Amino acid sequence: ERTKLRRLKTAKSSTLDGVDIALHANIELPGDVANALDGGAEGVGLFRSEFLFLDRGDMPTEDEQFEAYRTVVKGMIGRPVTIRTFDLGYDKDLHPEKVAGERMQSNPALGLRAIRLSLAESKMFQTQLRAILRASQFGKIKLLIPMLSQAHEIDQTLAAIERAKATLRGENCPFDEAIEVGAMIEIPAAALAVGLFLRRLHFLSIGTNDLIQYTLAIDRSDEQVAHLYDPLHPAVLMLLAHTIASAEKVHIPVSICGELAGDPQLTRLLLGMGLRQFSMHPAQILSVKQRIMQSNCAELAPIVRRLLRYEEPGKIREQLDKLNA
Ligand code: PEP
Ligand code: MG
Repeated sequence: ERTKLRRLKTAKSSTLDGVDIALHANIELPGDVANALDGGAEGVGLFRSEFLFLDRGDMPTEDEQFEAYRTVVKGMIGRPVTIRTFDLGYDKDLHPEKVAGERMQSNPALGLRAIRLSLAESKMFQTQLRAILRASQFGKIKLLIPMLSQAHEIDQTLAAIERAKATLRGENCPFDEAIEVGAMIEIPAAALAVGLFLRRLHFLSIGTNDLIQYTLAIDRSDEQVAHLYDPLHPAVLMLLAHTIASAEKVHIPVSICGELAGDPQLTRLLLGMGLRQFSMHPAQILSVKQRIMQSNCAELAPIVRRLLRYEEPGKIREQLDKLNA
């Protein structure tokens, strides 16, 4: 089975009815690029840049970050690399207290996390943006912003990016002027009011790990409620379907980069919702590609529409099993 999958590495990722599906890799460190390429990724859909803090007590300098981002984009040899700005202040054991100091809080999942922390720590954010922009002259980089929920946060973020660009121009430092900026959709408010994202940004990436946590009020790291953490809850599926359909209507690219994008049992469900871009752990890419190559998007759309009417995740799972058999 492994060797059969390996043979799919160079196969085209398209469905039986000829729809091309982009398969990208999630990475955490520059050293993961080899795995991404080995898995046959067409690009990096999510580079979790906060992992640059791993195993160190301080903030990586602009040059250290620049080196890391350049290594990734050069390593991907012309393929696009989506760099997510720091998602600090939450669960990852990355010593963010060294940056955030006294800002550490009692309920970090609902606190000063991700873009909220970056906007509050403008020096840290400018350093990161400059490093990413400088690396953008070496390949195709896109900027992805975590945990946005409000229009004014998007506008503030875009203004911060403009500031970083202006300082680089002042130093005659080249960068990609047309760099695309996108948002993680991982807060229910963002999925429901997705229009305000679509009007301001170039692309969306749905972070289902957090979207499920916040929709169902289930701490994603709490074992005691893990059995309630269900990607097939109808509310979660409604948010996914709404986000994907809304983006498609205005021709804004949308991908899913949460764990469920890498589950081949859910591939047909997502194809039926209209998803055309997936980003996942590199080890999952070939299994998902195999499922894609055996699927028909036109057939799946009406089946999935019916499936979205079920109230019980168990029923939906049953139907999916049939669909996958
Ligand atoms: C997500 O929330 O789905 C996601 C991809 O980001 P992270 O797991 O890093 O929070
Ligand atoms: Mg997230």
